[in-house]
Amino acid sequence: RRGDIARNHTATHLLQFALRQVLGEHVQQRGSLVAPDRLRFDFSHLKALTDKQIAEVNGIVNEKIRQNLNVYDENLPYKEAIEAGAIALFDEKYGDTVRVLKIGEPILSAELCGGTHVGSTGEIGYFHVVSEGSIGAGLRRIEAVTGRGAEEYVASQLTDSYKAAENLDAELDKERKRTLALEKELARKTAESLLAQAEVVKGVKVLVAKIPSARMEILREMSDIIRDKLKSAIVVLGTIYQDKPAFLAAVTPDLVAKGYDAGKIVKQVAGVVGGSGGGKPGLAQAGGKDKKKLDEALKLVKSLV
Ligand SMILES: [Zn+2]
Repeated sequence: RRGDIARNHTATHLLQFALRQVLGEHVQQRGSLVAPDRLRFDFSHLKALTDKQIAEVNGIVNEKIRQNLNVYDENLPYKEAIEAGAIALFDEKYGDTVRVLKIGEPILSAELCGGTHVGSTGEIGYFHVVSEGSIGAGLRRIEAVTGRGAEEYVASQLTDSYKAAENLDAELDKERKRTLALEKELARKTAESLLAQAEVVKGVKVLVAKIPSARMEILREMSDIIRDKLKSAIVVLGTIYQDKPAFLAAVTPDLVAKGYDAGKIVKQVAGVVGGSGGGKPGLAQAGGKDKKKLDEALKLVKSLV
């Protein structure tokens, strides 16, 4: 725990150094909190940090951690320390002799500080900003994690994103099932509304219909329903799906027995739109190229009976 606090404390100094590099020398510490699991740093700056700036700050601090810089202190008369460029806290009262905490040789950071620190920056392990926000006019707050806190943070973030991905997958699956159910319901209603259009040609019930854009599975669903209802019929459905004409033909078994063939019918119909297809005598499908000729193709059906 003491180690965790020391890591966060030294990281606070590196954070101030990085903020001054990225945002400018106007950045001044206005408060800080060093806990075992995280650190908090309040500073003067007018605007919110961009994602890029936060990434730069993370990058600089972690680079300094990897360089494993020496962390050491020196007791100096206050005046001498300030003249040498050590950063004092705004409004803080200091005695005649102060402790200056220094990082790196040449000196990267020199700040008046009485806190407990690590011996070298490598001990911090890893640094990551977890939040940045406003706490008043011209005042920003950064919260960050290091070492063990960073390890725990990364682990929990990963767990969260896996869970979120799983939830999203489940949602999507539910949505897909719902869409499919709606599509089937629509297919059933459309199919039932078409039944009255059936005509008798040479003693055979024929139903030809143009369907609003639908997938082949949906056309099949419709033809199943129509076949069930009409008992004995030739059914040819046409649609324009993904900008291309498509057909499905179905012939009930009694008419297949009389020599009617859905494969042959659909092949000739699709020929009109520059396409081809085939299947079994009871059920066949086809695609084509020229969607403008869909009506003309469907008109051909009756002459084929
Ligand atoms: Zn310190």
